[in-house]
Amino acid sequence: MSKKRVYIAYTGGTIGMQKSAQGFVPVPGFLEAELRRFPEFQHEDMPEYTISEFSPILDSANMAPEHWALVAADIEKHYDHYDGFVILHGTDTMAYTASALSFMLEDLHKPVILTGSQIPVGELRSDARDNLIGALYLAAHAPIPEVGLYFRNRLLRGNRSRKVDASGFDAFDSPNYPELVRMGTDIQIRHELLLQKPLKPLSVRRIEPPMIAALPIFPGINAEMLRQFLAHPVQGLVLQTYGMGNAPSRNKALLAVLTEACDRGAVIVNITQCPRGRVDMGGYETGNALRDCGVVSGFDMTTEAALAKLFYLFSLGLAPDAIRENMQKNLRGELSA
Ligand code: ASP
Repeated sequence: MSKKRVYIAYTGGTIGMQKSAQGFVPVPGFLEAELRRFPEFQHEDMPEYTISEFSPILDSANMAPEHWALVAADIEKHYDHYDGFVILHGTDTMAYTASALSFMLEDLHKPVILTGSQIPVGELRSDARDNLIGALYLAAHAPIPEVGLYFRNRLLRGNRSRKVDASGFDAFDSPNYPELVRMGTDIQIRHELLLQKPLKPLSVRRIEPPMIAALPIFPGINAEMLRQFLAHPVQGLVLQTYGMGNAPSRNKALLAVLTEACDRGAVIVNITQCPRGRVDMGGYETGNALRDCGVVSGFDMTTEAALAKLFYLFSLGLAPDAIRENMQKNLRGELSA
């Protein structure tokens, strides 16, 4: 049987960094040279792989929508020649890139798996080796037609994942959707949770960054400040609210600013600040008030997914009402309505 083939796009992140006087920095060529030294990567059970290093390789804090476009274009270019794709990426914004790719890669049939590490590959206690072997294995062998994020023995749906630990090895979680795969002595793939393989061929959607923002509600939030903030003009806003989607409903000036923004076509999506759970604007008067302003529910989406979805829908050139409607629909498994 011929070996499976995996394409590795190395965008940057701690995984390939080296110590410098300024702290860890990405170093071109270092990751590939390190991997060549590891006997595991020469093992006969390993898929064949090609590593393509981006230039420049980035700390993922520097990733922006134009870099998502480069990754998506790279996958598109090599799509027919590989069984699966691994994206090596910094952990800081990995959940954002995973969310964005899940929308940009329409009708995806093959696994696209993001991974990275908390400790660089060249260090003694690095988690890079395990994360990379697991991601490569799944990209080669698992029938996963979606964008996933693999970290510490678990594959999570990309657009459900969040970075939850700044330094621990269990750096990611999927608070509102179960893990797709758990790797132990055996590999448990939850087939019933996976997206269906599409019938159409892959098409890649570009993202033209519109004016999108995210803002938490907090006690003392000032209506005038919000007005200035929205006046830029913000086209889409992820409003991070309390609990089940609540905001200070007695602050009429604040509600007036939100209504004004919605009336001029801004799409405002309600996402809870809670790490777990969902928005239900019918639950409390304080949530209902937001609905009356024209704010739409993001249900149990993460902020990362909601932002990526806004980028995607605005880039499709849809009108505000169509964007509002789609924000409340499940497009890629990102929400349970
Ligand atoms: N700052 C790094 C990055 O996101 C952190 C990491 O990769 O773990 O690129």
